[in-house]
Amino acid sequence: MDFQTIENYDFTGKRALVRVDFNVPLKDGVVGDDTRVRAALPTIKMLLDKGASIVLMSHLGRPKGERKMEYSLAPVAAHLGKLLGREVKMAPDCVGEEVEAMAKGLKPGEILVLENVRFYGEETKNVAEFSQKLAKLGDVYVNDAFGSAHRAHSSTTGVTEYLPSLAGLLMEKELNELGKLMENPGHPFVVLLGGAKVSDKIGVMENLIGKADYILVGGGMAFPFLKSHGLEIGTSLCDEDLEVPKRIEEKAAGTSTKLMLPVDVVAATEFAENAPHDVYDVEHIPADRMGLDIGPKTVAAYKEVLATAKTIFWNGPMGVFEKKPFDKGTREIAQAVADAEARSVVGGGDSVAALNQAGLADKITHVSTGGGASMEFVEGKQLPGVVGLCQAK
Ligand code: AMP
Repeated sequence: MDFQTIENYDFTGKRALVRVDFNVPLKDGVVGDDTRVRAALPTIKMLLDKGASIVLMSHLGRPKGERKMEYSLAPVAAHLGKLLGREVKMAPDCVGEEVEAMAKGLKPGEILVLENVRFYGEETKNVAEFSQKLAKLGDVYVNDAFGSAHRAHSSTTGVTEYLPSLAGLLMEKELNELGKLMENPGHPFVVLLGGAKVSDKIGVMENLIGKADYILVGGGMAFPFLKSHGLEIGTSLCDEDLEVPKRIEEKAAGTSTKLMLPVDVVAATEFAENAPHDVYDVEHIPADRMGLDIGPKTVAAYKEVLATAKTIFWNGPMGVFEKKPFDKGTREIAQAVADAEARSVVGGGDSVAALNQAGLADKITHVSTGGGASMEFVEGKQLPGVVGLCQAK
């Protein structure tokens, strides 16, 4: 990957148009978890130190091309102002004459946040005229929105046609960490995959077969595998074509990658917090029970493998970790990943939330800010946002 970064660029007197990922949860007009805003601070601070003025752009939620003010970025601009301890201006729109005048009027050290780029349907369609309008707001473009790099949108890709384009510090760090994981992993390389659906993870599994030494499967996605072995899985989640897990297991069988499945599960009477539950070996799941977490024998087996790892990649919870006590397997596995003397990379909202809840995030080598983008990277796909940076003049 050959792209320029902001470190060696002279920003003196320049307006930097920066794509950040400020897609944060809002409640009653107040920012909830501000991890994504904080993640953009190193780039913003470096640009300020380098004498730039800054125009920040982002999407928030899915307003679907309409000006829906519950998706306004104004509360995020206010929050950023507090974090930086300086004034942050808010634009009434993300394109147009008034915004152009505001952007032109910025002095070095001043920051303007544009309104949600997804108030325009052209953004997600990557319409050239819209990209050009955005490009008018800066002298140079910086992409720091790794979490949106798997989308070919105007603000992530289109603008790179019209401005010199650079990677921000967060983008650079994400690409370096994920690049190291895929190009030169220390062995044993252990991949831990959970979450609801196999279909979301097939690409990753297929790309990692032959590269990883172990793929440990947990969460709802284990059940199609177990069912394809002829096991009864009760009322556990399984709405998949069983050919898919079969194909993955056959592919793994011809390689040095060992695919491991749960040997026991915590199965409950219903999908609810504190629902009556017991531990069952996977051969004995009752017809009226659903598996909501991996069981203690599985946790022990996965822990043993994780303890030997030199590289770990984890995406997806091991169970329904939002509902107690079905969070136990995920929490124990999170602890094992944190304890391992391995380069560990964790991506995906739920696995990251589990780490944060357990206060373990700082024990992980790299916590990715982009669930979807990190998965597509690990799938071996080219991320349009990164391709845009590589092809930019
Ligand atoms: P994903 O977005 O694919 O990583 O899936 C995350 C979701 O998978 C979480 O909301 C979990 O509650 C859910 N999940 C994990 N394990 C199970 C399970 N055994 N049955 C149903 N849902 C599950």
